[in-house]
Amino acid sequence: MIKNLEIYTSEIANFKTDNLEELNQFRLKFLGKKGILIELFNKIKEIPPEERKQFGQDINILKSAVLDKVETLKTDIESKQHSRHSTLDVSRSANYMTLGSRHPISVVMKQLCDTFKKIGYTISEGPDIEDDWYNFESLNFTEDHPARDMQDTFFIDEKTLLRTHTSPVQIRVMETHKPPLHIICPGRVFRNEAITARAHCIFHQIELLCVDQNVSFADMRQTLDYFVKETFGPNRKTRLRPSYFPFTEPSAEMDISCDICNGKGCNICKYTGWVEILGCGMVDPNVLENVGIDPHIYSGFAIGIGVERLTQQLYKTKDIRLFFENDIRFLQQFESM
Ligand SMILES: [Zn+2]
Repeated sequence: MIKNLEIYTSEIANFKTDNLEELNQFRLKFLGKKGILIELFNKIKEIPPEERKQFGQDINILKSAVLDKVETLKTDIESKQHSRHSTLDVSRSANYMTLGSRHPISVVMKQLCDTFKKIGYTISEGPDIEDDWYNFESLNFTEDHPARDMQDTFFIDEKTLLRTHTSPVQIRVMETHKPPLHIICPGRVFRNEAITARAHCIFHQIELLCVDQNVSFADMRQTLDYFVKETFGPNRKTRLRPSYFPFTEPSAEMDISCDICNGKGCNICKYTGWVEILGCGMVDPNVLENVGIDPHIYSGFAIGIGVERLTQQLYKTKDIRLFFENDIRFLQQFESM
C-alpha cells in the first residue's frame, strides 16, 4: 500500500498538460466518486491500527498534492488561452500595408512638368472655380463667343463657373508679375461635354506661357520640338495646323502621329492617323493689354497640352474613361511608377 502511495505521488508530480479536458480527467481519476483517493480512504480499515494514523496523513498529503496540481495547471492553461485571444500579441509578425501607385495622369503631369522645368519654367497654380473675367473676358473671349454657352461650360451662377481651361492662371500671374515670365500651369478643367472614349467632362491640361522681349513663333516651334522629343523620342511625327483661339494670334494646333494604330487609323485618331495633343499660339496683344503689359515692348507664346490625350498615346490606352473609373485592375498596371 505504501508503495502505491509513492507511485501516485510521483505520478502527480510528473503530470503535465495544456488541455483542460485532460486536466479534468486527471482530477476525476484522483478526486472523483470512484477515484483513487476515495479508494484509499476506504482501505484505511484494512491497515494495521498502529500504521493507520500515518497512512491517513499520507493520503491527505496526496490529496493536497492533487488539488495543488489541478489549481496550478488550470491557472496556466487559462492564462495561455487569454493571451492567445488578446489583441496584443508581441510574437506576431508585423502586418504589411500594400503600397499604392501613382495615377497614370499624375505620372504624365509630373513628367511634363519636369520636362519644362529643365528649360527654366516654374509651376503656377490657380483655383478650379473661376469668374467670367479670368476664364473668358481677360482672355479676349467676346460677349457672344460660343464657348460661353451653357452647353460648353458648367456655370455655378451667371458670373461664376468651373474653369474650362488653365489659361486663367496665366492671367493671374501676368496681373501680379512683370515679364520675363516662364511658367507652366498644370490643373484640372471642366467642360459640359458628352463622355466618350476620347472625351470627358473633366480632364487635365498643362499650359505653358512665355512672355519676354522679342519672343517669336520660331521660339515656340523650338519649344514644341523639344517637348515632343523629350516625351515621345526623336522619331515621332508631328504637324502644325492653323487654328483659332480668342487669346492667341496667330494660333495653331499640333498633332502627333497616332501610336495606337501606327498611323493606320483607329477610333482614337478618328481614322486619320493623327491625334491633336495641344493648341498654341502667340499671345494676343489684347490679352497683354488686359493685364497691363505693353504689347509694343513684350510678346509671348502660350501652349495648352491635353494630358489625357497624351497619356492615351504614351500608354496606348484606348478609352479615356478608364482614367476616371478608379478600377483597381487598371490602376495596378502603373504600380512601379
Ligand atoms: Zn489611331
